[in-house]
Amino acid sequence: MSRSAPCTREQIQQLDQSDPLAFCRQRFTLPQHKIYLDGNSLGAMPAHVPARLEQVLKVEWAEGLINSWNDADWYPAPQRTGARIAGLIGAQGHEVIVADSTSINLFKVLVAALRMQPSRRVILAENGNFPTDVYIAQGVAELTGCRLQCVDPEQILDALSDQVAILSLTHVNYKTGRRYDMAAITARAHELGVLVVWDLCHSAGAMPVELNAAGADFAVGCGYKYLNGGPGAPAFVFVAERHIAQLRQPLTGWHGHAKPFDFSHDYQPHPSLDRMLVGTAPQLGVLALEAALEVFDGVDLQALRRKSLALSELFIRLCDEQLAGLGVQLQTPRDAEQRGSQVSLSHPQAYPVMQALIARGIVGDFRAPDILRFGFAPLYNRFEDIWSCVDALRDILVSEAWNQPQFLARKAVT
Ligand SMILES: *Cc1c(COP(=O)(O)O)cnc(C)c1O
Repeated sequence: MSRSAPCTREQIQQLDQSDPLAFCRQRFTLPQHKIYLDGNSLGAMPAHVPARLEQVLKVEWAEGLINSWNDADWYPAPQRTGARIAGLIGAQGHEVIVADSTSINLFKVLVAALRMQPSRRVILAENGNFPTDVYIAQGVAELTGCRLQCVDPEQILDALSDQVAILSLTHVNYKTGRRYDMAAITARAHELGVLVVWDLCHSAGAMPVELNAAGADFAVGCGYKYLNGGPGAPAFVFVAERHIAQLRQPLTGWHGHAKPFDFSHDYQPHPSLDRMLVGTAPQLGVLALEAALEVFDGVDLQALRRKSLALSELFIRLCDEQLAGLGVQLQTPRDAEQRGSQVSLSHPQAYPVMQALIARGIVGDFRAPDILRFGFAPLYNRFEDIWSCVDALRDILVSEAWNQPQFLARKAVT
C-alpha cells in the first residue's frame, strides 16, 4: 500500500469531490440514511421513473386504453429498449430485444443454439454459476437428450472440444465477482466450432461489454440489477446478426410470429430478432426499464469502469488494513482485469454479520454458505460509502455485535 494513499474519512471525501461521475447520483432516489451496496441484486430507483409511470398509468392506460399500443408507441417498446441496452453492451440496436426473464431467455437461446449444432450433444457450463443458469441447462439437456457437463472455471478451456455444442458462461460470477476474459474464451471456443452464450446479469450497466468485438454469439441479461429497471424488470437477449435468420427458438408464441395480427394458424418466425419474443410484453415493466436507462445518458462507459474499479480497489485496501485478523477472507480476485463490480468476503458468521450491518443502515447481502457480498454501482455509490461500510464492519466484528438473536435468525429472502 502506498503511504500517500487516503485513509481518513475526509481524504476519502476528496475522492468523491473529484469524481467525474458524481453528477449521476442525483439521478436516483436513494433513502437518506442508508448506504446501498446491493445494486447488483436490485438496482436503485431512477428519480424520474415514478413520473414516467404515472403518465403511463393515468394517461396512456386510463385514457388511451388499447389505442396506446399504437398511439403511445407501446408496441415497439421491447425493440426500442433493447436498442438502448445494445449501446451498453457493444451490440447493434437490432441485435438486442427486451423480453421475459433471464431464465426464460436462456432457455430459448440454449435450445435455439443446440438446433444450430445438430451433430454435437454436449452443453458445457461452469460449476459455481448462479443456480438458475444451471437448472435451465439441466432442463434443456433433459428435453433435448443432450448431456450437460459442468466444470470449474479454470478448466473451461481444457474441456472445450468438437463434441461441445454450446459453452454457457456468466461473464461475472454472482458470488465471487470473478470476471472471464470474454474475447479470449469466445475465440478459443470458435476455433473448435463451439457456440458461446454469455450471461451478462452482473456486467450490463456496470462496465462496458464488447459483445461484437469479442465475436459473441448469444447473450442474456437482467433488467433489475445494474440497469435499474425495478423489481422483476424484464430481461434482454442478444443474438449476433449473423445468427438471426436461422435462429429457431422453442417458445413459438404469437409475438414472435412474422405477422402476429394476421392470426393465421401456421407459425412463421419474424425475420428480425422479434422472433425471440413469446407473448405480450409485461408492458409496465418494459416502459419503466426504458425510462430507467436514461440514467446512462452522457455517461462514458470507460469512466464507469474506472470508477467501479476504484471503488472495489478502495474496498479491498480498507479491508486489508482494517479487518486483518478478524476472520475475513477476500473471495474476489485482486487483479482488476479479473474483477467485476463487486467484492465478496467470506466469514464463518457471514449471515448475522450482514444482518448487523443492515441494522446499521448499510445494505449488502449474504450468499450461502458464508459470503458477505458488496456490489458497487458506479452511478450512485460514493467512495465515502465504502469507507463507512468497512468502518462499520470492523466495529461489528471487533465488538461481536452480530452475536444477538435478532441477527442470527434467518429470513426468507437473504
Ligand atoms: C440475477 C441472475 C439471474 C436472474 O434470473 P431471473 O430469471 O431474472 O430470475 C440469472 N442468472 C444470473 C447469473 C443472475 O445473476
